[in-house]
Amino acid sequence: MGVHIVEESKRCLMCKRAMCQLKGCPVQTPIPQVIELFRERKIDEAGEVLFANNPMSAVCSAVCNHMGQCEGACIQGKKGTPIHFSSIEDYISTTYLERHEFAPAPSCGKRVAVIGSGPAGITVAIKLAQAGCAVTVFEQRAEIGGVLEYGIPDFRLPRTLVQRYRKVMCDLGVRVRPSTTIGGALRIDDLLRDGYDAVFVGTGTWRARKLGIPGETRGNVFFGIDYLVDPSSVAIGQSVAVIGAGNVAMDVARTALRQGARNVTIYARSKHVSASSDEVEFAQLDGAELVYGKAIQEIDGNGPVFRTAIFDEGDAVVGYEDELDHVSCDTVVIAASQQAKDKLVLTTDALVANDRGLLEVDENGMTMMPSVFAAGDVVSGPSTVVHAVACANRAVAGIMSYLGI
Ligand SMILES: Cc1cc2nc3c(=O)[nH]c(=O)nc-3n(C[C@H](O)[C@H](O)[C@H](O)COP(=O)(O)OP(=O)(O)OC[C@H]3O[C@@H](n4cnc5c(N)ncnc54)[C@H](O)[C@@H]3O)c2cc1C
Repeated sequence: MGVHIVEESKRCLMCKRAMCQLKGCPVQTPIPQVIELFRERKIDEAGEVLFANNPMSAVCSAVCNHMGQCEGACIQGKKGTPIHFSSIEDYISTTYLERHEFAPAPSCGKRVAVIGSGPAGITVAIKLAQAGCAVTVFEQRAEIGGVLEYGIPDFRLPRTLVQRYRKVMCDLGVRVRPSTTIGGALRIDDLLRDGYDAVFVGTGTWRARKLGIPGETRGNVFFGIDYLVDPSSVAIGQSVAVIGAGNVAMDVARTALRQGARNVTIYARSKHVSASSDEVEFAQLDGAELVYGKAIQEIDGNGPVFRTAIFDEGDAVVGYEDELDHVSCDTVVIAASQQAKDKLVLTTDALVANDRGLLEVDENGMTMMPSVFAAGDVVSGPSTVVHAVACANRAVAGIMSYLGI
């Protein structure tokens, strides 16, 4: 472990109004309480607190944008170095997941179907199982985890950690039905017919947003979200152009470099990059080049064709150069955001989605269809693990109140 976490915990000032928790963390992790328990060597209790607040704590310690959240809000960071809480959280929460013996809770007599096993679905399944519900998770892919398994590369998030959640759910009595798409042969109506008292939808955003430019259907052009599902299935070549500059683009670039590509260039439309600064730095450390101000026009037989932006002094795009910039490369990967697939909406009359395919829910997480709840990216659009958990926590409260448990 790079950081000496015991020394690190001693630097915490135990602020009464802890900004790391109140302002920094979307799930308000009780950081001072956890650090206090850790200092007292009460690792199990600290793990319990973290898990009860956020079952995905072990994942969040690895993939959250800590400097944009808890560590960025730490008062110690104002004059020096913030407390490296992510390392402390990593130690506590992975130890807890490894050591704690999970067991089914006494039954409350209710049955819940969870569609999708990403962070939102796992959170809901675990919390409702702990409340005594009989939970069945329906997952269209072979493995659980959603983006954690099929998006974020394993050099950032070990698959062993993701699969640990399968055991946790199993120990809690959750049934998992892999390779089962709801909205295919089975529909939400079938779940309700079979007596589930509530249904939770956490299906994420798995439809790549296309650019709508000529050349997108060429054989050497891929969407980032599809490429990351199984990078080894793509002959990536030596030179790769990545279109877009969000976190997905950074993961694509770093994965392509690990697959043997020598020249990987990330093209951003403007000087604003939506990826976190850490992810940009890691992509550059790995050898990717980032080029700003390139608006893609088409993809021809050689590669992408851009218009080059002209910036003013404030870095705003004020126009484009007349001459087109033709780039030659082996592979183009488009990483320009995602939206929700429409299988569920098309097969369920009462579900209402907006024009991006995202489900509309009320303040309790209930969709326009009574007894059907939703949370995570399928509600918010592409976001983050911790935001999916925050949204899922609200839906859990909504489902429990709806079920009267
Ligand atoms: C490449 C990439 C990198 C990212 N990196 C980070 C990061 O570093 N840090 C961070 O915090 N966030 C990151 N994110 C975002 C984060 O992973 C997502 O916000 C989060 O996973 C959303 O969780 P979810 O449960 O809503 O959806 P998902 O994780 O998308 O899970 C949805 C699940 O539903 C399943 N499903 C879909 N439709 C059906 C159906 N009809 N029937 C049955 N199952 C279905 C899917 O197979 C999937 O398993 C990243 C996203 C991507 C794409």
